[in-house]
Amino acid sequence: MDFGISEAFEATLARVRTFVKTELYPLEAAYQARGFRALEPVLAEKRAQVKAMGLWLPQIEKEHGGLGLSLMEHGLVCAELAKSPFGFYAFNCQAPDSGNMEILIKYGTKEQQERWLKPLLAGETRSCFSMTEPEFPGSNPAWMGTTAEKDGSDYIINGHKWFTTSYEGAAFAIVMAITDPGAPKYMRASQIIVPVGTPGFELVENISCMGHRGDAWDSHAEVRYTNVRVPQANLLGPEGAGFVIAQDRLGPGRIHHCMRWLGISERAFDLMCTYALAREVAPDRPLAGMEFVQGWIAESRAEINAAKLAVLHAAWVIDTQGAKAAREEISLIKFSVAKILHSVVDRAIQAHGGLGITDRTPLASFYRNERAGRIYDGPDEVHKISAAKQILKRYQEEAAAAMVNA
Ligand SMILES: Cc1cc2nc3c(=O)[nH]c(=O)nc-3n(C[C@H](O)[C@H](O)[C@H](O)COP(=O)(O)OP(=O)(O)OC[C@H]3O[C@@H](n4cnc5c(N)ncnc54)[C@H](O)[C@@H]3O)c2cc1C
Repeated sequence: MDFGISEAFEATLARVRTFVKTELYPLEAAYQARGFRALEPVLAEKRAQVKAMGLWLPQIEKEHGGLGLSLMEHGLVCAELAKSPFGFYAFNCQAPDSGNMEILIKYGTKEQQERWLKPLLAGETRSCFSMTEPEFPGSNPAWMGTTAEKDGSDYIINGHKWFTTSYEGAAFAIVMAITDPGAPKYMRASQIIVPVGTPGFELVENISCMGHRGDAWDSHAEVRYTNVRVPQANLLGPEGAGFVIAQDRLGPGRIHHCMRWLGISERAFDLMCTYALAREVAPDRPLAGMEFVQGWIAESRAEINAAKLAVLHAAWVIDTQGAKAAREEISLIKFSVAKILHSVVDRAIQAHGGLGITDRTPLASFYRNERAGRIYDGPDEVHKISAAKQILKRYQEEAAAAMVNA
């Protein structure tokens, strides 16, 4: 499948592929043994290499120092980067920073861009996004407890959040808070920049997820905001626009996740095929000769190919018709690609036997980390309901039009 991409872009992809394989795969054992923070110095060197190769910020427009790729091209780059747990980080297109970069570019004032966006684009700082709360359902985000009340020229923020991913080591959070409880449902909240270190903005703990607490960029924090005072100049976009901005952030965010899952699926597939050829169940009887294993390989290849087409099609709709036109496609890929990823990683683990659940391959961490893909940025059920409603609406409209024309 080449999707008619240019030779020049194919060459870029090949450089990304080689870099990920030769520079990042060798870091995986150290990550499993010592965690992400221990790897930061060597990753800083890798980031410098990526910059020198002219591949920095693949998701960002050229005017802001990025590669200016189309979303479809970026999808193909992501599918290479995601083969390593640090591919996105090395190229500075990792969540949650990439989403924060996008909304700071679109909604940030000149001062906000100077202070917060520029260092983020340069890879000098990191950031986090603080919306979900333990006491309220993330799948109904309009219902939340965090408030930001005006006091002179400041906001005073009070609230409790969790899954503030990558808080540890971040320079700032973008927090979602109710600024006008009396406003219509989707105009009650605003997004506000809160520097980490502001008095009252405190870490409760990095939450242990599936037995892994993680650290630095690779962590999910529970945090409290207790009378946190920030200037009103830290408001991002207009007051009450929190959900509009969140939609801007989550739409591309969802497709970025799906693109990342393609890469993880490819890596798991690669590991499964390589191991199946090398591992013998008896002298001269490799796993690859077993029909069960052949079935896993064929099913996985078919599913990954289908997922790739669906993700690139959604990207093409966004590139050619805008994000709104791709709402149905985005919901469809969000739950279906997450499921394919899960199946492929599961089969790859099964093919590896006991080795598959050790941390001597990246499969166990893929399994552990990516189960969450069926929950964050909208659980499967919410996307299925949303896609089905859009499909049924079309049928209703067609039926109504047929009645009129009859
Ligand atoms: C690894 C990870 C990273 C995250 N990172 C961030 C982050 O950086 N910043 C941030 O703010 N948040 C983050 N989140 C939070 C995430 O966005 C929420 O977990 C998600 O929105 C779901 O909200 P919830 O956990 O409160 O589940 P709930 O809303 O309580 O839902 C529980 C379950 O109910 C079901 N359900 C919900 N609604 C419906 C419905 N309408 N119909 C049928 N079933 C339904 C679903 O199965 C769902 O899984 C992260 C979460 C994870 C797991």
